[in-house]
Amino acid sequence: MSDPTPRIAIIGAGMAGLTAARALADAGSAVTIFEKSRGIGGRLATRRVRAEGPAFGLEFDHGAPAIDAQPSSFRRFVEELRREGAAAAWPAAGADAFVGAPRMNALLAPAATGLDIRFSTRVSSVRRDGACWRLSLEDEDAGPDIPSVDAVIVTAPAPQTSGLLKTADDRLARAADAAAMAPCWTLMLSVDGAIDAAPILDRFDAASPIERIISDNFKPGRDSQPRRFVIHANAEWSSQNLDLPREEAAELLTKAALRAVGGDNARIIYAAAHRWRYARATRPIGAPILSSEDGTLIAAGDWLIGDDAGAAFQSGRAAAEAAISHFQR
Ligand SMILES: Cc1cc2nc3c(=O)[nH]c(=O)nc-3n(C[C@H](O)[C@H](O)[C@H](O)COP(=O)(O)OP(=O)(O)OC[C@H]3O[C@@H](n4cnc5c(N)ncnc54)[C@H](O)[C@@H]3O)c2cc1C
Repeated sequence: MSDPTPRIAIIGAGMAGLTAARALADAGSAVTIFEKSRGIGGRLATRRVRAEGPAFGLEFDHGAPAIDAQPSSFRRFVEELRREGAAAAWPAAGADAFVGAPRMNALLAPAATGLDIRFSTRVSSVRRDGACWRLSLEDEDAGPDIPSVDAVIVTAPAPQTSGLLKTADDRLARAADAAAMAPCWTLMLSVDGAIDAAPILDRFDAASPIERIISDNFKPGRDSQPRRFVIHANAEWSSQNLDLPREEAAELLTKAALRAVGGDNARIIYAAAHRWRYARATRPIGAPILSSEDGTLIAAGDWLIGDDAGAAFQSGRAAAEAAISHFQR
């Protein structure tokens, strides 16, 4: 790059954000990543139970259960992860399906290595600061001062990106509003005893709230006991019940799931629901990134071109390429 070390802020440490960050850092930019949660992965998520008790230490891949290694650029990335031991094929989920090893968010651990990531740091707005950009943090005490930066890449789900961009570039915010995303209530359930269920169940009667039941035990590199299921409610039920208290959603989904796997009498070790307000894109934008007129404010993420990890990867890469060529001019 010809500019003296461009300073770039990236919002989000999921697939799109870390793909962009890795490429930019490797090209010589000074990259800082802001992530509101405590770890990497975004919707390639793994929950580790921290509460003392019989469930302590259990892990659930409660976001994407697996990824499809398509298209070819994403396949090459996944094959490299497999060579490093961070991914493993899981044919139960499809011919090109892979999972993170030993957990889904491990898929992003190699990309994150050595990067400056500020965890538990939620960005509340992005504003112009002369020729640069300045981020405001929700908790102003969350860490060292954020200097102004030369470019910002926002990788939050579309509605959150739109909110972040309102103060920065109203045209971009409105463009992000064109994408639609569906919610997904997800149940993490562990039970004691033998249950004879296939690795993935995806056929349910019309009255069931459930779309998929995934047995995490069957994924490569996971413990076989105790039984651990991740249950995705279907989009219709998730939308209609979006504001249920978590305990109530967990109770309703637990009943439906135990009925579906023939475990009505099983002893429950752990049951907790997680609401993904923006789980999957149902109407992507159709372009790999959105960009401000001067090219220094970029929106990226799965919702630009698809609804999966491969789309997030491609969009993250496109964001990095756009920023690199901007600073080479
Ligand atoms: C239940 C479920 C099932 C799925 N099933 C599949 C599947 O089978 N196959 C598949 O390929 N994909 C699946 N997906 C989708 C896949 O997980 C996503 O497409 C992909 O992970 C999106 O990556 P991303 O980087 O675009 O966004 P995200 O992973 O959402 O990353 C965005 C990051 O930004 C952070 N963030 C947001 N706002 C702020 C802020 N203001 N400040 C700081 N940080 C912020 C978030 O915490 C998050 O870490 C599924 C997702 C869910 C939820």
